[in-house]
Amino acid sequence: MCSVSWLQNNQSLSICFNRDEQISRSKAHPPQPIFKNGVTILSPTDPDGGGTWLSVNDYAITLCLLNLYEFQTINNDPAKPKISRGILVHNLAFCTSLENVITVIQQQDLAQFQPFRLLFISPTEKQELRWDGRNFEQYALPSFCSSSSVETQSVIQQRIEQFAEYHPQDVKAQLNLHQSHYPQKGAYSICMHRDDATTVSLSHLFINQNQVIFNYHNGSPCENHSSTTNTLMLNPHTQKHMASLFNNSFHS
Ligand SMILES: [Zn+2]
Repeated sequence: MCSVSWLQNNQSLSICFNRDEQISRSKAHPPQPIFKNGVTILSPTDPDGGGTWLSVNDYAITLCLLNLYEFQTINNDPAKPKISRGILVHNLAFCTSLENVITVIQQQDLAQFQPFRLLFISPTEKQELRWDGRNFEQYALPSFCSSSSVETQSVIQQRIEQFAEYHPQDVKAQLNLHQSHYPQKGAYSICMHRDDATTVSLSHLFINQNQVIFNYHNGSPCENHSSTTNTLMLNPHTQKHMASLFNNSFHS
């Protein structure tokens, strides 16, 4: 249960992630930097599963995890307990390319995982890697993706239509969309509210040619809650690559 959008121009890439969760689930830990194998990541942590639903690293690679509820009943053999998909995302967060991510996923016994959509978002590549419980496939990533455990197809369709209609062109409009209650405050709105579940956080990642600014709003996007901001410098190689891609400085 989540909504993700990305927006890129010739200066920056902006990613918003509404995390929708059961109210009973423990509150997540805000993003923390972790350094391993020469790669630094920034990632919030889910204390229940120990993994994450969102990570970014100093190669300007962002990974977002969405559950694939449409296929959840497939591959539900109780004799084969499932491993948390969030743990997989945490391990993949240190990958330095799309090829690297795909290779690591293909090395897994995917039958251990419930179906998922892993969104790979970098300034140069946007791909969806999808495990539906039977097949692992790769798709071009649209600018907006959503999931819902309740009325899955109609909720997703409604939100996609809302995104298309609203069509955010700048960061302010994108953030507004993620705080919005269309058609009303409830299960269908992108800022989601139900009795049993709600949007529990809004992560906003802003990536320019030098750094990632990760703003983590720890509560419903439509309400005032504490937020934390972390900055992650891109590594020198990636900064050089971004300089040629983002042809104007963020500050100009
Ligand atoms: Zn709301």
